[in-house]
Amino acid sequence: MSTIIRHEFTIFVSLNILFMIDTITSAKSAIALEEKYGAHNYHPLPVVLHKGEGVFLWDVDGKRYFDFLSAYSAVNQGHCHPRIINAMINQAKELTLTSRAFYNDKLGLAEKYVCQLFGYDKALFMNSGAEANETAIKLARKWGYTKKGIEENKAVIVAVKQNFHGRTTSIISASTDPTATSGFGPFMPGFEIIDYDNTSALEKALANKNVCGLWIEPIQGEAGVYVPHEGYLKAAEKLCRQHNVLLMMDEIQTGIARTGKMLASDHENVKPDLLILGKALSGGILPISLVLTNDEIMLVIKPGEHGSTFGGNPLAAVVCMEALQVIQDEKLAENAERLGKIFRERLNALIKKTKLIALVRGKGLLNAIVINDSPESETAWNLCVKFAEHGLLAKPTHGNIIRLAPPLVITEEQIHESCDIIEKCVLSF
Ligand code: PLP
Repeated sequence: MSTIIRHEFTIFVSLNILFMIDTITSAKSAIALEEKYGAHNYHPLPVVLHKGEGVFLWDVDGKRYFDFLSAYSAVNQGHCHPRIINAMINQAKELTLTSRAFYNDKLGLAEKYVCQLFGYDKALFMNSGAEANETAIKLARKWGYTKKGIEENKAVIVAVKQNFHGRTTSIISASTDPTATSGFGPFMPGFEIIDYDNTSALEKALANKNVCGLWIEPIQGEAGVYVPHEGYLKAAEKLCRQHNVLLMMDEIQTGIARTGKMLASDHENVKPDLLILGKALSGGILPISLVLTNDEIMLVIKPGEHGSTFGGNPLAAVVCMEALQVIQDEKLAENAERLGKIFRERLNALIKKTKLIALVRGKGLLNAIVINDSPESETAWNLCVKFAEHGLLAKPTHGNIIRLAPPLVITEEQIHESCDIIEKCVLSF
């Protein structure tokens, strides 16, 4: 009897698996499944992806696309980079997770690697970008109380308008985007929000003796690739030093070669007190994030005061080292710098032929086109649908802005091929 039941169960399970596999190879049903069983917290383009390699993605029908989003710049090294995949597989066969209750034989190596690469004393590994920002907030506050002498519970972190640092309730407390905040209050106190790219606003805000940190992105990626004027980051650094405030730089999207240098802060020779990294730390393979800082700041956090079960696991440690080594070995920052210029030249030439694009902006291979229409219009979305029809994937960010950020392994020939697609779609629109 029990054999029969087991047999029937096996048949049931295998039929069920077959049914599932059959279902997810059809684009329409994959979308229907996500709609029915998934939360509606994203609004994806109607493309169902199945495979990735380098700059390319393929959908379930075998159609190939240039990826011009790179998973929000997590895939700077290209999809499924063989070296990173191999490092992951080899480590996965040995040991994946120990928790930080014990030491493991890979974390220290990764900590040393990132400290030496970025020039800091200490590293704290987490998983998502939001967690790394949370870590930076805690470090800045605790440093404010224990080192700067701010009165308990009075610490202020200065953030800027249109920032994007993640989605946790503390982080959205510093957001000015109604989509991020509406319906999610009450919010955490202790943030002052000032204008971005405004040095006099900084001068005023940082003079407050309760300010422990200035929290900025060197280029605002999610907001629509806003590049501040040259000198803004340097002025921010100088004012932070002058007022004994920590410069907390969120390079989660801009870091790891995306803008043509290892860090976007490098363009102005700025060294943040707290460097916040994520995304491309793993080349898109695992969620890995990180805060780097010096001993005086990092050691304010004592055992038990902060952490994460998965943060600093040996699998992540190995993947992170290999992903960063690939960036250097393949000279991806240099590639981003050189091809970014060619890309913007081509797009600027296109602007002269059309009224559809108002402007092009960006650095390295983090760029955006601003569509000549209201942010509420569907134009940018419809243009992205057209791009997809012609084999290029990009997504609007904030209505009428389309971010264009391919993997940094893209070649000059592929940049021209992509520009041809963009041009054809824009001119036929
Ligand atoms: N900070 C910046 C600048 C980002 O661009 C993002 C994500 O897009 C985050 C933080 C949040 O990262 P995560 O989605 O991994 O939490």
